[in-house]
Formats: sequence, structure tokens, C-alpha cells
Amino acid sequence: MSQSSKKGTIPARKGKGAFAAKGQIIRVINTHGQQVVDTWAFNAHDTSEFLSMEHSRVAMGKIIPEVGDSLVTNKRRPILTIVEDTTPGIHDTLLAACDRYRYELLGAKGYHDNCTDNLASAMKELGAKLPETPSPLNLFMNIPVLEKGRVDFRPPVSQPDQYIALRAEMDLFVVFSACPQDMVPINGIACIPTDAEFAIE
Ligand SMILES: [Zn+2]
Repeated sequence: MSQSSKKGTIPARKGKGAFAAKGQIIRVINTHGQQVVDTWAFNAHDTSEFLSMEHSRVAMGKIIPEVGDSLVTNKRRPILTIVEDTTPGIHDTLLAACDRYRYELLGAKGYHDNCTDNLASAMKELGAKLPETPSPLNLFMNIPVLEKGRVDFRPPVSQPDQYIALRAEMDLFVVFSACPQDMVPINGIACIPTDAEFAIE
């Protein structure tokens, strides 16, 4: 597991995983501006420790991380720190990853790509054990909390090529999924999932 830099595409509707060494910067680029990227991180030396949204909300005292905030694992240790964000700063930590059941409930017929299966495929490709499907950090996802605690599902507010940069606080496996949601307009009102990109350096 080298500290080499890498770049890649997160194909529309699909997942992609990579290793990042402690101290490396992971950039996630919203190439077309309207794509939600579900993001997970696992301790590379023990994947039963992973980025946890519920623990991170406690550590941060907020539901949307900003530059300077560290997200933590299920063992409450920092795993990712936001070091730069050229988007308007709208991301989501509340919603579960989409899965086959979500699409079945929405009325999809037959198999529908989903972030949960994308995570499993990416971890398998990395040769890493997947302990469970943690709740993801939903980059660029616009889920405002309204009055009486209601939430809404809105298109991203980021622009093409805007990005967020995260510092790895431990050796980790990071997995991205260009969310294939095309039945609710979280990936833009056109409901057409697109590619995104990442760079680790
Ligand atoms: Zn999804």
C-alpha cells in the first residue's frame, strides 16, 4: 500500500474504491455539478472501524461538515478532515445509502443500480472486508431540514468542477458511489446520474 497519487473516474451509477495513506488529500470533484457522491472510509488495518455519520454528528455538533471539521469513526477517532470546499458547502450526513429496497419502494421494475451494491463491489475489488453498510457521507447532496424536522430532497447546488478535499487521518480505504438515483431529483432535476472524479495525492 503505497503513498502514490492516483486519479480516477467515478462512473455514473457505479462505485470506485482506492487506498489513501495517512496525510494524503482526497479530492472529490463534481465534474458536471449535479451528482451526489456517497462516500465511505474504512481503517485499512481493521475495516470494522469506519467513518460513522452518527458519531461524526456528535463530534462536530452539527449535521453538515465544514472546512476544519473532522469526521470520526465508530470508535470516535478522526478519520477524515475537510480541508477545502469550493462548493457552497451543502452535503448530507442524514440519509442512508440507496439500496434495492429503496428502488423497489419507489416502483422500479427489475434490478436498479444502487450505492449499497456499489460499495460491496468496490470493497471486493480492493480485496477488503466489508463489515456492514455504514451510513455514507453524501457529498454534494442537498437535503435541507425544514420546519417540524421535515427533510426535503433537492438538486445539488454545486457547479461543474467544484470539489471538496478531505485529509486522511489514518491509512484508509475510501469508496465513492456516483449515486444512481434517477427516480427522485437528488442528482439534478433531469434525474440523469453522471460521472464524477477523484484524486488522491
Ligand atoms: Zn445512492
